[in-house]
Amino acid sequence: MTVSAALPTIKSRVLVAGATGFIGQFVAKASLDSGRPTYVLVRPGLATCPSKAKVTKSLHDKGAIILHGLISDRENMEKILKDHEIDIVISAVGGGNVLDQLALVEAIKAVGTVKRFLPSEFGHDVVRADPVEPGLKMYKEKREIRRLIEEHSIPYTYICCNSIASWPYYDNKHPADVLPPLDHFKIYGDGTVKAYFVAGTDIGKFTMKIVDDVRTINKSVHFRPFTNFYNMNELASLWEKKIGRTLPRVTVTEHDLLTIAAENIIPESIVASFTHDIFIKGCQSNFSINGPDDVEVGTLYPDEAFRTLDECFNDFALKLKDNNKDVGSNVKARNFKTPKRQKHRGFL
Ligand code: NDP
Repeated sequence: MTVSAALPTIKSRVLVAGATGFIGQFVAKASLDSGRPTYVLVRPGLATCPSKAKVTKSLHDKGAIILHGLISDRENMEKILKDHEIDIVISAVGGGNVLDQLALVEAIKAVGTVKRFLPSEFGHDVVRADPVEPGLKMYKEKREIRRLIEEHSIPYTYICCNSIASWPYYDNKHPADVLPPLDHFKIYGDGTVKAYFVAGTDIGKFTMKIVDDVRTINKSVHFRPFTNFYNMNELASLWEKKIGRTLPRVTVTEHDLLTIAAENIIPESIVASFTHDIFIKGCQSNFSINGPDDVEVGTLYPDEAFRTLDECFNDFALKLKDNNKDVGSNVKARNFKTPKRQKHRGFL
């Protein structure tokens, strides 16, 4: 029997925690675009953070209902879930706050009316991937949240969307905020290990398709768009085509990445440990996803296209052009400055 996607007649009420964050913004916007009543949980402190206030205002202007609180406040979370009759909870809290979700899971369990919980995953399959420390600590915490959800029999979906579409800087947790290199490429290992790259807007769009699809209950959904399966050498060539010139390539060895990871500088060392797992060990593609608890997003929505990496790099090229118009030659210094700590590395 073929089970097809559910088409709910009544729109589920969605609560997004972490909507002022990098991934959460994409998810909250996609939830609003999908026409679902969207509640956004914002931590106190808007007044002291203009960028957070700006994001919150733009979500509010698009129709989001803004609520204030912390997911670690179980009592308040229970009240919010009950008062607003929330059907779907999506958490996109950052890597340093993964365990705050313990209280949220308890609140969801206590209320008993939430139809689906998506914990803050949005990366690798944390059960299969095995980065070195300090990245491993975050994965252990994400595994702990998974265990509690499953123990409480809360309906869940784990979003394993792999890498964000951008140049994968080994020391920047939000590499899509930065343009690809203009001076030289740092290539991890021999540059031949491939990874999947997904545009932030597609992370949001597909997450919102998945949230009330019956085929994704209690599954890990893997994002493996074949159009966006690139290794570092191919990624460098793609960017060279966009900027119309070639750049020198410098090798960052496995040893270099492990050394940076071992320095335990947060968050850079965490990113280095993931970079090692992706581009040296091949953690995104060294397993098949044919288990009973796995599903690939392309098989669920075969007619729904992903933005290609080529298109995403066109966006970066346009941004570069705009920046050059705005600030002329200063753009190079402003956007592509090598952080001080990197200047002392042997591989530079
Ligand atoms: P950010 O650090 O950018 O944002 C975290 C958000 O969570 C903020 O809105 C923050 O609020 C909010 N938050 C934190 N703690 C609490 C709490 N106790 N209660 C309520 N809200 C809280 O996170 P990221 O977007 O970087 O990370 C989100 C997830 O995505 C993580 O699981 C991460 O591992 C993953 N990720 C995946 C990437 C990929 O390439 N696939 C890239 C980056 C992240 P405030 O604004 O007040 O700080």
